[in-house]
Amino acid sequence: MSQNFDVVVLGGGVGGYSAAIRAAQLGKSVAIVEEDKLGGTCLHRGCIPSKALLRSAEVYALMKESARFGIETGETRLNFPQVLSRKNEVVESLHTGLQFLMRKHKIQVFYGKGRVIGPSIFSPRSGAVSVEQADGEILSLVPEALILATGSRPRVLPGLEPDGVTVLSSDDALRMEELPASMLIIGGGVIGVEWASMLSDFGVKVTIAEVGPRLVPGEEEEISRELERLLRKRGVTIHTGCTVLPETCRKQEGGLSIEAEQRGERIRLEAGAALVSVGRGANVEGIGLENTDVKIEGGYIRVNASMQTAEHHIYAVGDCTGGVQLAHAAGHEGIAAAEHICRQETHRYEPHRIPRCVYSRPEIASVGWTEAQAKERGHEVKTSKVHFQALGKALVLGETDGFVKVVADARTNDILRGPYDRCACDRLYLGGRAGAAARSRTVGSGNGDASAPDAVGDSWRSDARGGRKSHHDVAAGAERPRPGKMNYL
Ligand SMILES: Cc1cc2nc3c(=O)[nH]c(=O)nc-3n(C[C@H](O)[C@H](O)[C@H](O)COP(=O)(O)OP(=O)(O)OC[C@H]3O[C@@H](n4cnc5c(N)ncnc54)[C@H](O)[C@@H]3O)c2cc1C
Repeated sequence: MSQNFDVVVLGGGVGGYSAAIRAAQLGKSVAIVEEDKLGGTCLHRGCIPSKALLRSAEVYALMKESARFGIETGETRLNFPQVLSRKNEVVESLHTGLQFLMRKHKIQVFYGKGRVIGPSIFSPRSGAVSVEQADGEILSLVPEALILATGSRPRVLPGLEPDGVTVLSSDDALRMEELPASMLIIGGGVIGVEWASMLSDFGVKVTIAEVGPRLVPGEEEEISRELERLLRKRGVTIHTGCTVLPETCRKQEGGLSIEAEQRGERIRLEAGAALVSVGRGANVEGIGLENTDVKIEGGYIRVNASMQTAEHHIYAVGDCTGGVQLAHAAGHEGIAAAEHICRQETHRYEPHRIPRCVYSRPEIASVGWTEAQAKERGHEVKTSKVHFQALGKALVLGETDGFVKVVADARTNDILRGPYDRCACDRLYLGGRAGAAARSRTVGSGNGDASAPDAVGDSWRSDARGGRKSHHDVAAGAERPRPGKMNYL
């Protein structure tokens, strides 16, 4: 059996469903093929469940300190089953909402594994999708345009494959019903440090082994250093320049033991379990790309600025194309692809304008070029920094760790990197040259409350007048000379 659509989307994650909704809004008949659940990684195995857990960890950490704020509550106890059930409720509520959105936009959802097929009796060109449904029935969906949005999965370290009990992927970690006493986290990127922060707040003894010289390598170097300092202060053990040797892994009573090489020496690491967080690989195998002229480069689907593959009626968006593997980037790409299919004007895709976020405690939020990248690109750079210790609101909240840093072009005063407001993150990216806003409780830039916009402004203004800011300037907002353009380049 075959059905015709204007647009078929393979994969119902944030990239796929954003594309589908936009195409439907623009009057197209649309189908989504999804082999698991609508919402994909972000909703079921990524952003949402991990942030729900992080929120519980944050509340727990705050409760343990409540006496400092004059609130005495008696013993604070962690009820992990309740933490999990709240996480599941948040996910389920969004999942229900998403299913409603599909119905509202008259998008047909076909559940089953989809595969792209080549020219056939259904269509003279490649790009139709065969769907193997749960009851074994095979359907063919024939579109004018196909959007590939198959996402990504956790990378595996050969020899240290996840078993779901002692060696975990981030998917397995979200399924843990009990917390181990200690956790070795292999990989100190975004996912690794979020889990380190969360688990340490839950009282798990955490060790991070990172092969590179610093944590979160995509961020400013001084932000990495500050985060490392703050995590160590909370009792997290951090080994950088440390290569874990999978062949030395021994599973033993109560966990595992593994050796690692650090600056020419062998060290032994032991923990109740290990979380392998060494990046994510694109889902490009087994989806029928060999039946098309779509090109794969470095493991990812190659696309042009309009998200078209080498076959121009086949688009690809989100994690399967590499680039910035973040949910809002995938959503933006999905919308851009749908608008291009519908011949609408759309926003240019510029990866450095995509806000980045790390939801550790403290959080990191930034957009633009790092200081090092700006220099590499030939900018004469000036920077400005304000520590949250100088901010009244940060002191009021009892959240004084971290700072705001702005990187600017010394000649034009254009901002090259700075913090962003998490709530306004799409607006800032899509607006491109909008002004900066930021919030506190972050390393480097951030989220959390309304005080850091002042910090950015103060940091920037005091720098623009070429002087150092004093506590008094920052606290009282004294003398505010006009800065140069507060535009992100
Ligand atoms: C632990 C973790 C935390 C994260 N936290 C954040 C965060 O805080 N903020 C943020 O912005 N990003 C975060 N991310 C990244 C974010 O989840 C991804 O960037 C985003 O989900 C990518 O969306 P996508 O649509 O490209 O792919 P996915 O969400 O992976 O969706 C792809 C979908 O395609 C389906 N599929 C694949 N192949 C087929 C097939 N052959 N047939 C049918 N269906 C198929 C899959 O089942 C899946 O549902 C996090 C990721 C992880 C792992």
